[in-house]
Amino acid sequence: MARSITILGAGLVGSLMSVILSKKGYRVTMYERRPDMRSATISAGRSINLAMSARGWKALDLAGLRPEMEALAIPMYGRYLHQPDGTSAFQPYGKNNEAIFSVSRGELNKKLMTLAEKEGVKIHFEHRCTHVQVVKNEVHFELPNGEKKELNADLLLGADGAFSALRSSYAMMERVDADQQYLAHGYKELSIPPNADGSMRMERNALHIWPRKNFMLIALPNTDGTFTCTLFLPFEGETSFAQLTTKAAVTTFFETHFPDAISLMPTLLEDFFQNPTSSLITTHIKPWHFQDKSALLGDAAHAIVPFYGQGMNAGFEDCTVLSSLMEKHGDDWTTILNEYDQKRKPNGDAVASLALLNFVEMRDKVADPSFLERKKIEKELGKKYPDQFISVYEMVSFSHIPYRTALGCIRAQDELLEKIMKEESTDEKIAQWVNQYHSTVQQLDFEDGN
Ligand SMILES: Cc1cc2nc3c(=O)[nH]c(=O)nc-3n(C[C@H](O)[C@H](O)[C@H](O)COP(=O)(O)OP(=O)(O)OC[C@H]3O[C@@H](n4cnc5c(N)ncnc54)[C@H](O)[C@@H]3O)c2cc1C
Repeated sequence: MARSITILGAGLVGSLMSVILSKKGYRVTMYERRPDMRSATISAGRSINLAMSARGWKALDLAGLRPEMEALAIPMYGRYLHQPDGTSAFQPYGKNNEAIFSVSRGELNKKLMTLAEKEGVKIHFEHRCTHVQVVKNEVHFELPNGEKKELNADLLLGADGAFSALRSSYAMMERVDADQQYLAHGYKELSIPPNADGSMRMERNALHIWPRKNFMLIALPNTDGTFTCTLFLPFEGETSFAQLTTKAAVTTFFETHFPDAISLMPTLLEDFFQNPTSSLITTHIKPWHFQDKSALLGDAAHAIVPFYGQGMNAGFEDCTVLSSLMEKHGDDWTTILNEYDQKRKPNGDAVASLALLNFVEMRDKVADPSFLERKKIEKELGKKYPDQFISVYEMVSFSHIPYRTALGCIRAQDELLEKIMKEESTDEKIAQWVNQYHSTVQQLDFEDGN
């Protein structure tokens, strides 16, 4: 008989995994710390919208949710740059009009939960896992009234987010390496409403960025005509959240750095003082599983900073990989979890590094004319040499090439692009350099990561 599976956390990744497992005939029970977001008036969690890209869509295909979510998703074909002098520019993401998609986190989570229940998954809300006795697979919960509960899991999956109780319980064990780093920057969500006639106040099909070297503002479109903006700013220092304690200071800050945005934000001051300032964390842990008894997935395994828009996408790819390992190994969970760990841990580490590197790119480099020139050349190379060159951004966002391969290509791509931009380049020389680049990276694994 197929094993029964307990999942901690009915967030995006836990809910999706529960649907996939249920479709494969497993009996699945989920335990979620919060009340049911479909009936309670609580926010769906961190960030109102998310950028979904190829890896996320692939996993939604497995759940059969893609068409429904596509109807609610807004394609963003590129970055719309807002410069300090008030000028703006559009940078396409892909060479063939590819897009990443703005989706509502809350809607997606609610749809996944409802689908999970339709598939027979039982969800217990307001059950906070306090800790797990990993060797015995004994899971302990606390309810809002203080009542304590425990259960013995047959197979346990921890999808309980960046501060996972299962992850903390692993971290207490011998020969487990676990670390976490907070970013010096925090973030705050703000919003831009539609015009009186319902139309949007900025270009709809783009991710808007106001890059300002050590900090930035971004905005993603929502289907109701609003934009959700996120300000990323250091917690401390000369230009920081610590300085923005009065209405006058916030107004001056926005007038100075984001003059074209402030006029679009009538509720800026209310939003700024009502909304929390949240922190950003990167975590690593090794291993990601314990025998055939339990494993981590999603942010519980790899919490990353949001600058590549890949946290959920990477978590959904964990689900795709687990699904294909189940196809390959049937009910042999010792092998499934071993292979899952071997395949995914290096990719979890790689996407964490990619996300940190992309922060510098977004807040600083995107406004630099030589960066714009580089992006143009990357696209030309991609079109002219499609079998030899794919930019790192395209690998991460529009393909299923493993994250660690994308990370492994960075240095070779930097060298290639620098040569093209700095040296006297002819078509012949470029062809030769592209060949050299290709032979450097071709020993990496370009196969679909799942
Ligand atoms: C500002 C910001 C912007 C982002 N933008 C993007 C983006 O554009 N694209 C993208 O792909 N990713 C993005 N991310 C990352 C994305 O939000 C996460 O990677 C994703 O939510 C991870 O899903 P998860 O299910 O693993 O964890 P979570 O979404 O955190 O879900 C975990 C669930 O477990 C529950 N839980 C927690 N602890 C317990 C416990 N002890 N017991 C029981 N239940 C528990 C929580 O209530 C929650 O429901 C962004 C993140 C941030 C902070």
